[in-house]
Amino acid sequence: MQIINPATEEVIRTLHEDTPLTLQTKLDALKKAQPLWAGKSLAERILVIARFSDLLAEDMEELASVLTSEVGKPLQQSRNEINGARARIKWMLDHAEKYLSDEVMVDEPGLKEIIRYEPLGVVCNISAWNYPYLVGVNVFIPALLSGNAVMYKPSEYATLTGLQIEKLLKQAGVPEQVFQVAVGAKKTGAALLEMDFNGYFFTGSYQTGKYIYEKVAPKMVPCQLELGGKDPLYIAEDVADVAAAAIGTADGAFYNNGQSCCSVERIYVHEKNYEAYLSAFVDEVKSWKSGLPTTDGVYIGALTRKAQIAILENQIKDALNKGAKLLTGGKAPQGKGYYFEPTVLTEVTNDMLVMQEESFGPIIGIMKVKDDNEALKMMQDTDYGLTAAIYTADQSRAEKILAQLDAGSGYWNCCDRVSAALPWSGRKYSGIGATLSHQGLRAFTKPKGYHLRG
Ligand code: NAD
Repeated sequence: MQIINPATEEVIRTLHEDTPLTLQTKLDALKKAQPLWAGKSLAERILVIARFSDLLAEDMEELASVLTSEVGKPLQQSRNEINGARARIKWMLDHAEKYLSDEVMVDEPGLKEIIRYEPLGVVCNISAWNYPYLVGVNVFIPALLSGNAVMYKPSEYATLTGLQIEKLLKQAGVPEQVFQVAVGAKKTGAALLEMDFNGYFFTGSYQTGKYIYEKVAPKMVPCQLELGGKDPLYIAEDVADVAAAAIGTADGAFYNNGQSCCSVERIYVHEKNYEAYLSAFVDEVKSWKSGLPTTDGVYIGALTRKAQIAILENQIKDALNKGAKLLTGGKAPQGKGYYFEPTVLTEVTNDMLVMQEESFGPIIGIMKVKDDNEALKMMQDTDYGLTAAIYTADQSRAEKILAQLDAGSGYWNCCDRVSAALPWSGRKYSGIGATLSHQGLRAFTKPKGYHLRG
């Protein structure tokens, strides 16, 4: 398997893919080692993971440089991602004792009732490339903390990072056989679905997620899916500083080149603020520096996957054919690397691909609406349900609208944001189950009820 730098198109490494045979050997080792890991105290496992987090900080520059070389994101955004992953790990470490220890529910003479959170066993984590540290940490850290062994399949676009993670976990004290990396692409992922894991945790697209859900169903083991989104954002007429809102929400749409599951993907603006918002938004987008992700000050680096360019071009073509207007960007520049100009479309309608299908790139459609009702109707019009955002001076108005949206996260005066303290979950085509928060810590356990008389 060749690892290609998307910013230069150079082959940076060639790796051997796992075969069904090597995967089975790894699974056998995981199964053997898991009970020993689960037999350690939670306090011991917490210490090991804390050491892993320290190692991430110590090796930051090297790790960020490897990440940028394989996914094309600006170096500073790679550093931000590793720091973000450490913050999530800290929350998990601070709360693991509280949420993973036994809970005494009834304690009276002659009867004790206890919930004990037992590990699932050996879990399989098939992961994405856009934030390999963040989405990886959501799964393998609580899985390890709660006593599971983990088969981690990084995306084929973030394999070098996956191997770095394995090295550091082992250096931190995770036993050799308790965490294994499955190297490969679709074929490797598909082979893992044929094997005997005690739970599957997937981050990726709806199409793959649906396939995995169907394949895993007969196994009768937990299957969690963190999938894509078409996240809407509404700017109401009472926003006081429209320019600041435009700058903040442009970042929400274009950070990491728009390759975030919770990127703002559709914007609806009240007609009163429409012109001011558009003008500030486009000024902001035009001010960004694009280019080699290793160059200081670059905000728009390379896209990770070449194939995404054709998807973006098709969405733009479809929008223009249906009457949209291109305000800036619109094409891939000539030359080496998978670059795409940050693109803003207006005069869009909800029947355009750019307003319905996940773009996962530096492109946004902005639409004028006349009131909250129209905004709500437009925002509800999607198969996805990951996040939704409202900018308004009035909190109760925002909460009223957010309550009517079938999405896992609701934002008031913010967007494109994840908190370790809150459940990260999608609805409809955006997924099933939750990571992060106390729910995410317990997602890798099965509760056993103990009825103790005597
Ligand atoms: P993808 O579905 O193409 O691939 C994800 C993983 O699945 C990869 O490791 C891939 O090798 C593997 N895979 C592909 N086909 C498979 C098969 N048939 N069987 C088993 N495994 C298979 O997704 P991607 O391009 O890596 O990630 C982008 C998508 O992930 C976007 O839709 C994005 O929104 C979503 N995402 C969601 C979240 C979230 O938290 N909800 C976070 C990050 C990314």
